[in-house]
Amino acid sequence: MRSLKADDAAVRFAAEILSKGGLVAFPTETVYGLGGDALNPSALARIFEAKGRPRFDPLIIHIAGLETLEEIADLGPLDSRARLRLETLTAHLWPGPLTLVLPKQTRISGLATGGLPTVAIRFPAHPVAQALIRLSSGAVAAPSANRFGCLSPTRAEHVLEQLDGKIDLILDGGRSPVGVESTVLDLSSDPPRLLRPGGVSRERLEALIGPVCAGDGSSPRSPGQLTSHYAPRAPLSLYAGKALAALDDNPREGFLFFCSSTCNAWLEGLRARGGNLPALPVPRIRTLSSRGDPCEAAANLFDTLYALDGLGLTHIRAEAAPEESLGPAINDRLFRAQGAL
Ligand code: AMP
Ligand code: MG
Repeated sequence: MRSLKADDAAVRFAAEILSKGGLVAFPTETVYGLGGDALNPSALARIFEAKGRPRFDPLIIHIAGLETLEEIADLGPLDSRARLRLETLTAHLWPGPLTLVLPKQTRISGLATGGLPTVAIRFPAHPVAQALIRLSSGAVAAPSANRFGCLSPTRAEHVLEQLDGKIDLILDGGRSPVGVESTVLDLSSDPPRLLRPGGVSRERLEALIGPVCAGDGSSPRSPGQLTSHYAPRAPLSLYAGKALAALDDNPREGFLFFCSSTCNAWLEGLRARGGNLPALPVPRIRTLSSRGDPCEAAANLFDTLYALDGLGLTHIRAEAAPEESLGPAINDRLFRAQGAL
């Protein structure tokens, strides 16, 4: 399978593939997406096939301008409060890592929405994604470009590892800067429902539109909400607070700390207990953000999990992030990675 540096010629080539019903993996600011023409049902069917994703899981449709919104979403059923929320959110957060769930237009295939009367829409900020969408039909359905249930890709190499031979092209645009998927917010309900924590924090949403309620997390229609998801091959356990720092070291296990201070507390504990101290730096012991910045930690999350998973470890032990900023998005991914056990 071809992986091309995402220059103008490669993006034009990719758009041609999409217009013929083919599949292209492309960079977005959140993670790499597996794109197919959202208006072509056979391309949609191929996305489910390539990912091994159940058909009831709805896809996110990516657009490259607000003018396309009403071709995909039917704003007719929204009341004035919902319309105001939509205007505020799109004015402040689009393009960006926020997906909005809205009533769908009848032209949108039920294949894209898992049979639901609503559709999920995002306007990504990544210039390569925008250029590709503009050169194609203007509506690109794109889940994350990984096999269903596995780690999400933040680099072209991650896509190649999982989908080689199953799609037509990878556009390599370097590393995805946000590193976790978009926040999914359902604007068709009142108050709006947060269906998936992601690249825009709940605090930021609530500062703009007031209270949002948390999704119940149990809907089988939301793939990112299945308890077994984002899973590395090695079993993963998630530890809250100081619990990780209290564990003994094991040279066959990986340790994923949120910040340097907890990693240092762990080393202190090992020293105090007279245990063997690992000679840092060592690839199996990682920190997501040395200064404890949740945005930096999110950007490093999947990349670090891929790296740890390549070491053939017997177990990965991960520390939960603080529940602020992008911390909930990180914890959601780690919790579901653990659920795969
Ligand atoms: P992914 O494509 O893997 O990034 O996941 C798509 C996410 O979009 C899922 O986690 C769902 O929560 C959400 N989603 C997509 N369409 C809908 C919809 N019509 N209603 C509710 N959630 C949706
Ligand atoms: Mg996904």
